[in-house]
Amino acid sequence: MPRIAINIKEGKVAKESDLIVGIDLGTTNSLVAYIKDGEAVAVKGADGKSTLVPSVVHFPPDSEEILVGDEAREKLLTDPANTVYSVKRLMGKSYRDLAGFEHYFGYKIIDEDTESLVKVRVRNKFYTPIELSAQILKALKVRIEQTLGQAISRAVITVPAYFNDAQRQATRDAGKLAGLDVLRIVNEPTAASLAYGLDNRSEEGQTIAVYDLGGGTFDISILRIEEGIFEVLSTNGDTFLGGDDFDRALIDHWIEQNGADPQVLRQNKELSQAIRLLAEEAKKNLSQRGSFSRQLDGMACSIDRTGFERLIRPLVSRTIDSCRQALRDAGLTKDDIQHVVLVGGSTRVPLVKAEVEAFFGRKPYDKLDPDEVVALGAAIQADVLAGNQKDVLLLDITPLSLGIETVGGLMDVIIPRNSKVPSKAGRQYTTSVDGQRNLKIAVFQGERDLVENNRKLGEFILRDIPPMPAGLPKIEIQFIINADGILKVKAKELRSGVEQAIDIKPSYGLSEEDMARMLLDSIEHAEEDMVVRALLEARNEANNILLAADKFLRQQAGALSEEERQRTQALADQLRKLTEGDDKDAINRAIEEINEYTRPLAQKAMDQTIAEAVKGKKI
Ligand code: AMP
Repeated sequence: MPRIAINIKEGKVAKESDLIVGIDLGTTNSLVAYIKDGEAVAVKGADGKSTLVPSVVHFPPDSEEILVGDEAREKLLTDPANTVYSVKRLMGKSYRDLAGFEHYFGYKIIDEDTESLVKVRVRNKFYTPIELSAQILKALKVRIEQTLGQAISRAVITVPAYFNDAQRQATRDAGKLAGLDVLRIVNEPTAASLAYGLDNRSEEGQTIAVYDLGGGTFDISILRIEEGIFEVLSTNGDTFLGGDDFDRALIDHWIEQNGADPQVLRQNKELSQAIRLLAEEAKKNLSQRGSFSRQLDGMACSIDRTGFERLIRPLVSRTIDSCRQALRDAGLTKDDIQHVVLVGGSTRVPLVKAEVEAFFGRKPYDKLDPDEVVALGAAIQADVLAGNQKDVLLLDITPLSLGIETVGGLMDVIIPRNSKVPSKAGRQYTTSVDGQRNLKIAVFQGERDLVENNRKLGEFILRDIPPMPAGLPKIEIQFIINADGILKVKAKELRSGVEQAIDIKPSYGLSEEDMARMLLDSIEHAEEDMVVRALLEARNEANNILLAADKFLRQQAGALSEEERQRTQALADQLRKLTEGDDKDAINRAIEEINEYTRPLAQKAMDQTIAEAVKGKKI
């Protein structure tokens, strides 16, 4: 149903369009694209110059209007404190996640509560990364609405493959705030592959490497596409490596060549900006030509391609090391890769192309504009969702295991690490106390056996369970991860139908480093964890037996001889004492002993109960 929308800014009535647009919300630049006459195209600004919208937001001192894009970028130099860039690096992050990187940002990041999400302070106002990203998304929305003369309300947005739940959720929320219904969050490498039409539906499938070198970040992703299903096999990269580092290497070289004082240059803001722009210009020139030469403030700034390549070779080598690691993590070799896709402006550098080609032993795909390729793929995915194309399923994997806390603080994994997304899994639990009305369900992420070593994602209480003896309620807990990688947890008591659910919106995200550390921890502590788990399980079992034994002694007192009663009590006391110690074998032996002794007694008691029940009944 088309709806009527009013464009307040222009005072025009616009027809709400059925179009779903694709958005690449990037660290340095963002783009919006759509399908025009069957072709994906990125949208240019009103000046018709560029499809890129710099991901920069500026808050002018004397007006309420917020500037986004090129205009905002110009303020980076003149008013850095009120100009926010690289907000993508803050999405879903706490201050603790950013520790050590604060100096990277020219604006103020708030650290009042290290555990919660970061905020950016601009003068006396605070902004969340979600609000700031929403400003960029709004600018993209306005751009496409003005181009098409239609109101747009639905979008697909891309994120890096390694983005976790919190970061994906934050991106989705930013879309909502910008007035966009985000139908799908898609991985950037997946979008890039789609742009090249690599969504084959053949049975044998194919494996693709997506090499993404932008201005400030590098990502390599290994994807597997089978029958139209995309799966991320592994990712690697460097969150602080990109074309800006090429510029910096060139600047350092020129300073050294001219014997200039780097300190003086650093203090002269105008000159340092001028030399930065010149270095970028030289770098771009060298992607086409053999040499570059210019004078700047009395300095001779010249370089030929060979010289430039010598400067950046160590940086490019680092990206190749990451490629090697990504292959290793996916359990593959170079020969397993059928296609290599280039993404990001810095892949225009001939040395980068050559090194990638040499490493993978095949020519990479580079026909599409590397700055646009992700947005184009997002537009194709949007078109698929709009029902205009054959369906292509997008599949990701969970980076860490997800589970709940059970008795004794043990982690019970419900969805193991590396499971495919979307995914659904469930398990039944019960209560441990008679008449228990409420059950707390605490959700954790991580690989360790004890929840205290994992990361808590959230908790909720299943209330109003009808009173029943311990062990009788059947509580089913279900984990559902949707296609965006967002987790929903449901709990239902099956006998009564009482149920409760939550969407897990973690309070802050995990960095890649954290994730790697959690995995390493689990390997290092595997043995120690196993010992602790075995002891806790023995104690849990013992507590169950003790509850049963107490009940038995109370209810069956009449059926037991004094000696039997005393012996059972003694065995129970001995077990209770052992549960306070750390000897799991002794606990298990005592459990065995009390079980052995009481089994025939229980049988006898039962026979007696039956005999009493039929007494007096005549057949
Ligand atoms: P992205 O973040 O993908 O927009 O990439 C931006 C980076 O690509 C910046 O470091 C640019 O300087 C770099 N870049 C853009 N065009 C070229 C080119 N022709 N040659 C080399 N680097 C380029």
